[in-house]
Amino acid sequence: MSDTRFGNHWIEALTKGQTRFHQLPADLDHNEAALIRREALQHISGASLRSIGDYTREPQPAHCENRIGSIQIPLGVAGPLLVKGQAITAQEPVYVPMATSEGALVASTSRGCRALHAAGGAVVRVEEVGITRAPVFRSSGIEQTQIFLSWVREHFAQIRQLCEQDSQHLQLQDIVPAVVGTSIYLRFRFHTADAMGMNMATIACDRVIRQLISPETGVPCISISGNYCTDKKPAMVNFLNGRGYRIHAEVRLSQDILRDILKTDAKALCELQYRKNLLGSVMAGTFGGNAHHANLLAAFFIATGQDVAQVAESATGITCIEACDHDAVYASIMMPDVPLGTVGGGTGLCTQREALALMGIVPGSKKPGVDTRRLAEILGALVLAGELSIMAAQASHQLVSAHQRLGR
Ligand code: NAP
Repeated sequence: MSDTRFGNHWIEALTKGQTRFHQLPADLDHNEAALIRREALQHISGASLRSIGDYTREPQPAHCENRIGSIQIPLGVAGPLLVKGQAITAQEPVYVPMATSEGALVASTSRGCRALHAAGGAVVRVEEVGITRAPVFRSSGIEQTQIFLSWVREHFAQIRQLCEQDSQHLQLQDIVPAVVGTSIYLRFRFHTADAMGMNMATIACDRVIRQLISPETGVPCISISGNYCTDKKPAMVNFLNGRGYRIHAEVRLSQDILRDILKTDAKALCELQYRKNLLGSVMAGTFGGNAHHANLLAAFFIATGQDVAQVAESATGITCIEACDHDAVYASIMMPDVPLGTVGGGTGLCTQREALALMGIVPGSKKPGVDTRRLAEILGALVLAGELSIMAAQASHQLVSAHQRLGR
């Protein structure tokens, strides 16, 4: 610490409760502020926070208030992964970073990558649906709601202009309304190039509501988010209409690949697909039907600086496995709702930036939108690899032994 007496003063003030954790001087270097908070917490709790304080120094504050340090999560790589997409081709095999503490996950996913490699790669296509924000308004009833919605339709060009005025990358696509009683939801959908876009979308919606929609219509906005967006929750509106990126990935696996790499066969895989991903998911009432999309999404999101809470909505996809001629299978995944970015939020942290660079993603080096499309295509192939390997492990009753060997 640059000035020990200065630091000691604040440590004592925090420890005695005379100053709150967010009340340290604003001009204090953020790494020094984290050290002061850690020292105070060590006094208060008696716990050692040495490891939490042993982190890579960020040049900027890291979008986290009351920061005391960082939590470490082991980082592994799965691959090489062959992706036949539009922003990445099978000529550029990638190693995919996965941050996890679940033993066997990276090994299993790598086995899936090997199966995809042997099949010539996964075909992946992604659709940029766009990020959504849906403020909720209160009308006086059906008649005012009708007038309000007509006004929104007629003034779409003006709304769009005001939304986009402060951004180089934000584009309003459409506004889809939903009504119940006196509540009106306007689901704004934006393209946000390489950014996941939730801040951009929320700021734009707030501006247009305060400056235009509410003053002109007299209809008050009750909240910038009416849950019809739907952010960070599994939701049918996202499943049907999409959100962020809609991702499709597929592969055909021969009998030899099934036997030699995945240690299973088409009959066992297809029966498991039917009884687990289809019937089991229906019986349980899950959203979508898959074996463990959430595992791949969480490890990839943490490694690449995505907003991890969005795994809640992203893990609602469907895995398909069908029998083909000659004892082969066709396997695919579809994820309708995956918010992703390569600029903004946690993607700017230095370790996450390196993880993105490992996959050839360096912000600012390509046309806007290409990097995040590439990220989405890689993720699609990764989830397919993970699904194939865990399904094969369960079909051949190797899941438990693999976890006993690698996971404990
Ligand atoms: P952001 O960092 O707030 O905005 C992205 C910024 O990157 C914009 O200023 C944009 O500039 C700039 N940019 C530069 N190059 C770009 C490119 N190629 N493509 C797109 N933008 C580019 O990030 P965000 O994606 O909007 O929001 C993500 C953050 O929101 C995460 O931290 C997430 O945790 C948080 N979040 C917020 C809410 C909320 O309600 N506010 C909800 C969920 C999550 P221009 O706009 O000038 O073009």
